[in-house]
Amino acid sequence: MTVTVKTFARLTEAAGALSERGARFLAGGTLVMRAVNEADPTITTLVRSTDPSFLNIAVSAGRIELGAGVTMAAILAERELALLHPVARGVGGPAVREAATVGGNLFAPSPYGDFAAALLALDATVMLAGGYGGRELPLEELFGRRDRGALLVASVAFRRPANEAFRFAKVSRVHPKGLSILSIAAQLPLASGRLNGARIAYGAMSRTPVRAKAAERALEGRSLDAAGIVPALAVAAEGTSPADDAIASAWWRREILPIHLRRLLLGAGQG
Ligand SMILES: Cc1cc2nc3c(=O)[nH]c(=O)nc-3n(C[C@H](O)[C@H](O)[C@H](O)COP(=O)(O)OP(=O)(O)OC[C@H]3O[C@@H](n4cnc5c(N)ncnc54)[C@H](O)[C@@H]3O)c2cc1C
Repeated sequence: MTVTVKTFARLTEAAGALSERGARFLAGGTLVMRAVNEADPTITTLVRSTDPSFLNIAVSAGRIELGAGVTMAAILAERELALLHPVARGVGGPAVREAATVGGNLFAPSPYGDFAAALLALDATVMLAGGYGGRELPLEELFGRRDRGALLVASVAFRRPANEAFRFAKVSRVHPKGLSILSIAAQLPLASGRLNGARIAYGAMSRTPVRAKAAERALEGRSLDAAGIVPALAVAAEGTSPADDAIASAWWRREILPIHLRRLLLGAGQG
Protein backbone atom coordinates (compact mmCIF):
# COMPACT_ATOMS: atom_id res chain seq x y z
CA MET A 1 0.00 0.00 0.00
CA THR A 2 1.24 3.49 -0.83
CA VAL A 3 1.81 5.92 2.02
CA THR A 4 1.90 9.62 1.15
CA VAL A 5 4.19 11.94 3.11
CA LYS A 6 3.03 15.55 3.47
CA THR A 7 5.40 18.17 4.88
CA PHE A 8 4.20 21.54 6.16
CA ALA A 9 6.18 24.64 7.09
CA ARG A 10 3.72 25.55 9.84
CA LEU A 11 2.42 23.39 12.67
CA THR A 12 -1.08 24.82 12.23
CA GLU A 13 -1.17 23.53 8.63
CA ALA A 14 0.09 20.11 9.75
CA ALA A 15 -2.62 20.03 12.42
CA GLY A 16 -5.23 20.68 9.74
CA ALA A 17 -3.94 17.79 7.61
CA LEU A 18 -4.25 15.40 10.56
CA SER A 19 -8.05 15.58 10.41
CA GLU A 20 -7.94 13.55 7.15
CA ARG A 21 -8.79 9.86 7.47
CA GLY A 22 -5.65 7.69 7.64
CA ALA A 23 -3.35 10.61 8.51
CA ARG A 24 -0.74 10.12 11.26
CA PHE A 25 1.81 12.63 12.53
CA LEU A 26 5.45 11.65 12.01
CA ALA A 27 7.94 13.00 14.56
CA GLY A 28 11.11 10.95 15.21
CA GLY A 29 9.41 7.94 13.67
CA THR A 30 10.79 5.35 16.13
CA LEU A 31 7.29 3.93 16.57
CA VAL A 32 5.29 5.22 13.65
CA MET A 33 7.80 4.04 11.02
CA ARG A 34 7.73 0.58 12.58
CA ALA A 35 3.96 0.58 12.04
CA VAL A 36 4.42 1.73 8.43
CA ASN A 37 7.06 -0.96 7.81
CA GLU A 38 4.63 -3.53 9.18
CA ALA A 39 2.08 -2.25 6.62
CA ASP A 40 -0.39 -0.93 9.22
CA PRO A 41 -3.45 -0.44 7.00
CA THR A 42 -4.79 2.44 9.15
CA ILE A 43 -1.91 4.71 8.06
CA THR A 44 -2.22 6.15 4.53
CA THR A 45 -0.66 9.60 5.06
CA LEU A 46 2.27 10.70 7.19
CA VAL A 47 2.15 14.36 8.20
CA ARG A 48 5.31 16.16 9.26
CA SER A 49 6.33 19.75 9.91
CA THR A 50 9.54 21.75 9.54
CA ASP A 51 8.26 24.54 11.81
CA PRO A 52 11.34 25.77 13.77
CA SER A 53 9.23 26.31 16.92
CA PHE A 54 8.83 22.53 17.09
CA LEU A 55 12.52 22.26 18.10
CA ASN A 56 12.53 25.16 20.50
CA ILE A 57 14.00 24.88 24.01
CA ALA A 58 13.29 27.80 26.37
CA VAL A 59 14.68 27.68 29.89
CA SER A 60 14.26 30.44 32.45
CA ALA A 61 14.66 30.49 36.21
CA GLY A 62 11.04 29.57 36.77
CA ARG A 63 9.84 27.71 33.67
CA ILE A 64 10.93 25.17 31.08
CA GLU A 65 9.29 24.93 27.66
CA LEU A 66 10.16 22.25 25.11
CA GLY A 67 8.97 22.07 21.51
CA ALA A 68 7.32 18.68 20.99
CA GLY A 69 9.92 17.87 18.31
CA VAL A 70 12.84 18.15 20.75
CA THR A 71 14.66 14.82 20.90
CA MET A 72 16.04 12.98 23.91
CA ALA A 73 19.55 13.57 22.47
CA ALA A 74 18.91 17.33 22.28
CA ILE A 75 17.81 17.32 25.93
CA LEU A 76 20.98 15.47 26.91
CA ALA A 77 23.07 18.06 25.03
CA GLU A 78 21.53 20.96 27.00
CA ARG A 79 23.20 21.62 30.36
CA GLU A 80 20.30 23.76 31.53
CA LEU A 81 18.10 20.66 31.29
CA ALA A 82 20.22 18.56 33.70
CA LEU A 83 17.08 17.87 35.71
CA LEU A 84 15.72 15.85 32.77
CA HIS A 85 18.93 14.03 31.84
CA PRO A 86 18.26 10.86 33.87
CA VAL A 87 14.84 10.65 32.21
CA ALA A 88 16.06 11.24 28.63
CA ARG A 89 18.95 8.81 29.18
CA GLY A 90 16.42 6.13 30.14
CA VAL A 91 14.68 6.19 26.75
CA GLY A 92 16.05 3.40 24.53
CA GLY A 93 19.65 3.26 23.30
CA PRO A 94 21.68 6.05 21.63
CA ALA A 95 20.16 5.55 18.16
CA VAL A 96 16.60 5.72 19.52
CA ARG A 97 17.42 8.81 21.60
CA GLU A 98 18.71 10.64 18.47
CA ALA A 99 15.22 10.39 16.94
CA ALA A 100 12.77 9.92 19.85
CA THR A 101 10.88 13.13 20.60
CA VAL A 102 9.13 14.56 23.63
CA GLY A 103 5.83 14.73 21.71
CA GLY A 104 6.10 11.14 20.47
CA ASN A 105 6.68 9.93 24.01
CA LEU A 106 3.33 11.41 25.08
CA PHE A 107 1.61 9.11 22.56
CA ALA A 108 3.79 6.03 23.02
CA PRO A 109 1.83 3.02 24.33
CA SER A 110 2.76 1.42 27.66
CA PRO A 111 5.37 0.16 28.63
CA TYR A 112 6.85 3.11 26.70
CA GLY A 113 6.23 6.63 27.98
CA ASP A 114 9.02 7.11 30.55
CA PHE A 115 9.48 10.76 29.62
CA ALA A 116 5.72 11.31 29.67
CA ALA A 117 5.57 9.95 33.24
CA ALA A 118 8.23 12.47 34.28
CA LEU A 119 6.27 15.30 32.65
CA LEU A 120 3.16 14.20 34.53
CA ALA A 121 5.02 14.39 37.86
CA LEU A 122 6.26 17.83 36.81
CA ASP A 123 2.64 18.96 36.30
CA ALA A 124 3.36 19.83 32.67
CA THR A 125 0.80 21.27 30.31
CA VAL A 126 0.76 20.80 26.53
CA MET A 127 0.10 23.42 23.90
CA LEU A 128 -1.95 22.06 21.01
CA ALA A 129 -1.50 23.30 17.45
CA GLY A 130 -4.37 23.93 15.04
CA GLY A 131 -8.01 24.07 15.97
CA TYR A 132 -7.11 24.07 19.64
CA GLY A 133 -4.17 26.43 19.06
CA GLY A 134 -3.20 28.65 21.95
CA ARG A 135 -4.94 26.42 24.45
CA GLU A 136 -2.95 24.77 27.21
CA LEU A 137 -4.16 21.34 28.19
CA PRO A 138 -3.18 19.51 31.39
CA LEU A 139 -1.31 16.31 30.58
CA GLU A 140 -3.93 14.10 32.23
CA GLU A 141 -6.54 15.53 29.88
CA LEU A 142 -4.31 14.79 26.87
CA PHE A 143 -3.87 11.19 28.03
CA GLY A 144 -7.66 10.85 28.24
CA ARG A 145 -8.06 12.02 24.65
CA ARG A 146 -4.93 10.84 22.87
CA ASP A 147 -6.45 7.73 21.29
CA ARG A 148 -9.10 9.76 19.51
CA GLY A 149 -6.41 11.07 17.09
CA ALA A 150 -6.12 14.35 15.18
CA LEU A 151 -4.33 16.12 18.05
CA LEU A 152 -1.00 17.81 17.38
CA VAL A 153 1.07 18.76 20.40
CA ALA A 154 3.21 21.81 19.65
CA SER A 155 5.07 22.08 22.98
CA VAL A 156 5.11 21.13 26.65
CA ALA A 157 5.83 23.44 29.58
CA PHE A 158 6.24 23.17 33.33
CA ARG A 159 7.44 25.13 36.33
CA ARG A 160 11.05 24.28 37.10
CA PRO A 161 11.33 22.51 40.47
CA ALA A 162 14.45 22.69 42.59
CA ASN A 163 16.78 19.98 41.21
CA GLU A 164 16.79 18.07 44.48
CA ALA A 165 12.97 18.07 44.61
CA PHE A 166 12.65 16.01 41.41
CA ARG A 167 13.50 12.32 41.24
CA PHE A 168 13.18 9.67 38.55
CA ALA A 169 13.79 5.93 38.44
CA LYS A 170 13.35 3.44 35.66
CA VAL A 171 13.13 -0.24 36.54
CA SER A 172 14.06 -2.64 33.75
CA ARG A 173 15.55 -6.08 33.36
CA VAL A 174 18.19 -5.01 30.83
CA HIS A 175 20.43 -2.15 31.88
CA PRO A 176 20.88 0.54 30.77
CA LYS A 177 18.39 0.54 27.90
CA GLY A 178 15.73 -2.12 28.47
CA LEU A 179 12.03 -1.38 28.32
CA SER A 180 10.40 -0.41 31.57
CA ILE A 181 8.93 -2.87 34.01
CA LEU A 182 7.86 0.45 35.46
CA SER A 183 9.14 3.96 35.90
CA ILE A 184 8.53 6.40 38.74
CA ALA A 185 8.89 10.18 38.75
CA ALA A 186 8.30 12.37 41.77
CA GLN A 187 8.31 16.01 42.69
CA LEU A 188 8.86 16.26 46.44
CA PRO A 189 8.69 19.84 47.72
CA LEU A 190 9.50 20.23 51.41
CA ALA A 191 8.33 23.06 53.67
CA SER A 192 9.92 23.14 57.13
CA GLY A 193 10.98 19.52 56.72
CA ARG A 194 7.48 18.32 55.76
CA LEU A 195 6.21 17.27 52.33
CA ASN A 196 3.92 19.86 50.85
CA GLY A 197 2.17 19.03 47.56
CA ALA A 198 4.14 15.94 46.51
CA ARG A 199 3.39 14.73 42.98
CA ILE A 200 4.17 11.18 41.90
CA ALA A 201 3.61 9.57 38.49
CA TYR A 202 4.18 6.06 37.19
CA GLY A 203 5.02 4.80 33.71
CA ALA A 204 3.94 1.29 32.63
CA MET A 205 1.53 0.96 35.57
CA SER A 206 -1.54 1.77 33.45
CA ARG A 207 -2.55 2.25 29.81
CA THR A 208 -1.08 5.77 30.02
CA PRO A 209 1.23 7.33 32.62
CA VAL A 210 -0.78 7.74 35.81
CA ARG A 211 -0.62 9.79 39.01
CA ALA A 212 -0.21 7.99 42.35
CA LYS A 213 -2.86 10.13 44.00
CA ALA A 214 -3.36 7.92 47.08
CA ALA A 215 0.39 7.90 47.77
CA GLU A 216 0.55 11.66 47.22
CA ARG A 217 -2.22 12.22 49.80
CA ALA A 218 -0.52 9.87 52.25
CA LEU A 219 2.72 11.88 52.01
CA GLU A 220 1.12 15.24 52.71
CA GLY A 221 2.63 16.81 55.83
CA ARG A 222 4.91 13.81 56.44
CA SER A 223 8.67 13.83 56.74
CA LEU A 224 10.70 12.29 53.91
CA ASP A 225 12.19 9.48 55.95
CA ALA A 226 11.62 5.76 56.50
CA ALA A 227 8.85 6.29 59.08
CA GLY A 228 7.18 9.18 57.23
CA ILE A 229 6.67 7.29 53.98
CA VAL A 230 5.16 4.07 55.40
CA PRO A 231 1.50 5.08 54.76
CA ALA A 232 2.33 6.05 51.17
CA LEU A 233 4.00 2.71 50.45
CA ALA A 234 0.90 0.88 51.71
CA VAL A 235 -1.23 2.56 49.02
CA ALA A 236 1.44 2.79 46.31
CA ALA A 237 -0.43 0.63 43.76
CA GLU A 238 -3.86 2.18 44.35
CA GLY A 239 -5.40 3.47 41.10
CA THR A 240 -3.01 1.53 38.85
CA SER A 241 -3.98 -1.11 36.27
CA PRO A 242 -0.73 -2.49 34.83
CA ALA A 243 -0.65 -4.86 31.88
CA ASP A 244 0.61 -8.42 31.59
CA ASP A 245 3.13 -8.13 28.78
CA ALA A 246 6.41 -9.60 27.58
CA ILE A 247 8.34 -7.43 30.04
CA ALA A 248 6.48 -8.33 33.27
CA SER A 249 3.16 -9.51 34.63
CA ALA A 250 0.73 -7.08 36.22
CA TRP A 251 1.16 -8.98 39.50
CA TRP A 252 4.94 -8.51 39.44
CA ARG A 253 4.65 -4.83 38.62
CA ARG A 254 2.36 -4.29 41.63
CA GLU A 255 4.62 -6.40 43.88
CA ILE A 256 7.80 -4.45 43.19
CA LEU A 257 6.27 -0.99 42.94
CA PRO A 258 6.42 -0.18 46.71
CA ILE A 259 10.03 -1.40 46.89
CA HIS A 260 11.13 0.98 44.14
CA LEU A 261 8.94 3.81 45.40
CA ARG A 262 10.61 3.44 48.81
CA ARG A 263 14.08 3.62 47.23
CA LEU A 264 13.13 6.66 45.20
CA LEU A 265 11.57 8.53 48.13
CA LEU A 266 14.54 7.83 50.38
CA GLY A 267 16.96 8.81 47.63
CA ALA A 268 18.50 5.35 47.71
CA GLY A 269 19.11 5.20 43.95
CA GLN A 270 17.60 3.37 41.06
CA GLY A 271 16.40 -0.22 41.11
C1 LIG B 1 14.19 -0.03 20.29
C2 LIG B 1 13.26 0.96 20.97
C3 LIG B 1 13.43 1.23 22.32
C4 LIG B 1 12.60 2.13 22.95
N1 LIG B 1 12.78 2.38 24.29
C5 LIG B 1 11.96 3.25 24.93
C6 LIG B 1 12.13 3.50 26.31
O1 LIG B 1 13.02 2.96 26.97
N2 LIG B 1 11.29 4.38 26.91
C7 LIG B 1 10.28 4.99 26.23
O2 LIG B 1 9.54 5.79 26.82
N3 LIG B 1 10.09 4.77 24.92
C8 LIG B 1 10.90 3.93 24.26
N4 LIG B 1 10.71 3.67 22.92
C9 LIG B 1 9.55 4.24 22.25
C10 LIG B 1 9.83 5.55 21.48
O3 LIG B 1 11.09 5.55 20.88
C11 LIG B 1 9.72 6.78 22.37
O4 LIG B 1 8.55 6.71 23.15
C12 LIG B 1 9.75 8.08 21.56
O5 LIG B 1 9.78 9.20 22.45
C13 LIG B 1 8.61 8.25 20.57
O6 LIG B 1 8.85 9.46 19.86
P1 LIG B 1 8.95 9.55 18.27
O7 LIG B 1 9.23 10.97 17.95
O8 LIG B 1 9.88 8.54 17.69
O9 LIG B 1 7.45 9.16 17.89
P2 LIG B 1 6.86 8.72 16.46
O10 LIG B 1 7.20 7.31 16.18
O11 LIG B 1 7.17 9.73 15.42
O12 LIG B 1 5.30 8.84 16.83
C14 LIG B 1 4.72 7.99 17.82
C15 LIG B 1 3.23 8.35 17.92
O13 LIG B 1 3.08 9.65 18.47
C16 LIG B 1 2.39 10.50 17.58
N5 LIG B 1 3.04 11.82 17.70
C17 LIG B 1 4.37 12.08 17.65
N6 LIG B 1 4.59 13.40 17.90
C18 LIG B 1 3.38 13.95 18.09
C19 LIG B 1 2.95 15.27 18.40
N7 LIG B 1 3.82 16.29 18.56
N8 LIG B 1 1.62 15.51 18.53
C20 LIG B 1 0.73 14.49 18.37
N9 LIG B 1 1.08 13.21 18.10
C21 LIG B 1 2.39 12.95 17.97
C22 LIG B 1 2.57 9.87 16.21
O14 LIG B 1 1.55 10.23 15.30
C23 LIG B 1 2.53 8.39 16.56
O15 LIG B 1 1.21 7.96 16.72
C24 LIG B 1 11.56 2.77 22.24
C25 LIG B 1 11.39 2.50 20.87
C26 LIG B 1 12.23 1.61 20.24
C27 LIG B 1 12.02 1.35 18.78
